[in-house]
Amino acid sequence: MLKTNQNYKLLNTSYLFPEIKRKVALFSSEFPNITLFNLGEGDTTQPLASSVSKSMIKKIEDMSSDKAYMGYSDPLGLATLKSQIASNYNNSYAKNFDLSEIFISDGAKTDLFNIQAIFQSGMKVALQNPSYPAYIDSFVINGNANDLVYLVGNAENKFVPSLPTQRVDLMYLCFPNNPTGASASYVQLKQFVDYALKKRTLIIYDSVYSWFIEDPRYPRSIYEIPGADECAIEIQSLSKIASFPSLRLGWTIIPQKLLAGSFKRREINNIWKRRQQTAFNGASIVSQAGAISALSDKGLKECDKNIKYYLKNTKLIKNCCEKIGLECFGGTNSPYVWCKTPNKMTSWEFFDFLLKEANTICAPGVGFGSLGEGFFRLSGFAKNKEVLNATQHITKAFLLLK
Ligand code: PLP
Repeated sequence: MLKTNQNYKLLNTSYLFPEIKRKVALFSSEFPNITLFNLGEGDTTQPLASSVSKSMIKKIEDMSSDKAYMGYSDPLGLATLKSQIASNYNNSYAKNFDLSEIFISDGAKTDLFNIQAIFQSGMKVALQNPSYPAYIDSFVINGNANDLVYLVGNAENKFVPSLPTQRVDLMYLCFPNNPTGASASYVQLKQFVDYALKKRTLIIYDSVYSWFIEDPRYPRSIYEIPGADECAIEIQSLSKIASFPSLRLGWTIIPQKLLAGSFKRREINNIWKRRQQTAFNGASIVSQAGAISALSDKGLKECDKNIKYYLKNTKLIKNCCEKIGLECFGGTNSPYVWCKTPNKMTSWEFFDFLLKEANTICAPGVGFGSLGEGFFRLSGFAKNKEVLNATQHITKAFLLLK
């Protein structure tokens, strides 16, 4: 008999961001004349770099010509793009990856979810709490939520958790972290890598915010840590760093040397390749053309301008929050500021307060996990003018709390 995957019944009834949208729509229908400032979303607002859009336009034009038209392309990605990524890893981290270790994707979220399905369900998995809500949902849907180990993030450890006290099969890590903005230092990340090497744990390292790291004390890639290519898969995306959220382009590195659980070297790489060849027909050729350009020296410089713009916004937000007396985390090397709610408000109580009194949208911390309760996240991805308006309104609203 046809049955749905029963794990879907175990999910929270709604995902965080649609719930925020629902509440905001309700507020706007009640107060249609109020302009809202959106610091709730981790969505980019700066346009594509001009060299990137030119390459994509050129690719579309090629596709309209008889000579240069291209049908299906390699599901694993264009060799030119993979070479560009390989050479960037080599230049930045002296890490030499073979093209067979790089898989082009249509963004990080898909691979973060799908990668679990190449392993048998029922694994012992670890994840940061709080963390990006898609991870926990992917554990639930893939049947891995029964034996869950939370890596506790709190004010004491500045949201860089300690190692699990028991062995786990799989561990998701994200630095700089969404939502807390925390980055792990070399020493901290090395502890995770050493643990994984010792226990043969597989780390899935989500590095989608890595280019926001300015301080050289924090690694941008897990492969900067010796031995990480034997225990970690890195998942990266151009969404946040090159204005690609709607264009969709990312990549996943699965080193041939990987040795997790009882797998032999090359095995995980081979299974993922087999999976992608069957279940994926490749990222858009137009997005791949844009990515080649974004990852060139010129493109990287152009993308960096946007990153600096968002970081400047984040600094403004953090300064404002500190001035009004909030306990703040993140806000440097990251586009997110993570704050404790005032007066012991719950995350959703504070969300309602900020919406009503400052006309500003935040992301309630509890939406990122139980340990996010009593916190909220503000994002530097908004336009600068919106950030300036929001910070003025927040400052005024806080006078009501005195
Ligand atoms: N990983 C984290 C931590 C994120 O915050 C997001 C999006 O907000 C993603 C992955 C999704 O990235 P992509 O747009 O590449 O699917």
